[in-house]
Amino acid sequence: MKVQKKFLLQSAILLFLGLGLGFGLGSFYASAPVIGCRENDLTPIPDEGFVSPAASEVPAGSVPETPPAPPDKWVCLTFDDGPSKTTPDILAALNAAGVRATFFVVATGYNEKYLPLLAEAEAAGHQIAFHSASHEYSDIYRSPDAYWQDLSLLKERIAPYVHTEGIRYLRFPGGSTNTVSRRYGGKGIMSELKAQAAEKGFTSVDWNVCAEDAVGGKPSASTIYRNVVRETGEQTQCIVLMHDSATTHTTAEALPDIIQWYRDQGFTFCRVEQVLPTP
Ligand SMILES: [Zn+2]
Repeated sequence: MKVQKKFLLQSAILLFLGLGLGFGLGSFYASAPVIGCRENDLTPIPDEGFVSPAASEVPAGSVPETPPAPPDKWVCLTFDDGPSKTTPDILAALNAAGVRATFFVVATGYNEKYLPLLAEAEAAGHQIAFHSASHEYSDIYRSPDAYWQDLSLLKERIAPYVHTEGIRYLRFPGGSTNTVSRRYGGKGIMSELKAQAAEKGFTSVDWNVCAEDAVGGKPSASTIYRNVVRETGEQTQCIVLMHDSATTHTTAEALPDIIQWYRDQGFTFCRVEQVLPTP
């Protein structure tokens, strides 16, 4: 109980900080250098930040005059492309360590039988956020309408298991600055989608640390651990991209060491909703 209380207290503080620092963080993210790779290495250019600029604009009135000092270091572990057969092991590793994470989920049809795991994840205090129903770039990036239709389908498919109405965070497949989408929807497709996401009240979430766990050759747990340590470098506010898929079981195996390393460096674990403001 003690641990849980402490966690709740930390959560409350961080949520407050997240809201209070909305202004500063927005500009920080927009200018922060990003070492990380792209999801599945699909895009050659680097990310510009965790969060799309439009989504980081917070009205002046909502910012306290003197926000309390932020935690020195925070890290959000994020998992894309689940739920999958790997999800139980990811949840077990997170829960054993007392860490809450954020899952950007899919509902492709192929992972249908794993969808009930989302209820388990939500009940354990993890954040469920949108990724894509089909995850097919050629489909979802054809047009803004196609993208939002896909998101509606995702919402519909996961609704039996989680509280979808409260979901305000999404991650664009390939990230918000991916260029692959241009092949299907033209040059302006991502900026159009980012603006629409903000209008609809969503925060789009990128990353600045990539575990490179979904690259070819199935990296070992120790490689994934080293990737995370290397990409974290001197950064003190980290959103880590990892994957929860049938082919990334070594990610689950790497988690205990990754969590221990961040703890040893003095990081506080947060869900994305605790550190990034909504529009
Ligand atoms: Zn993905």
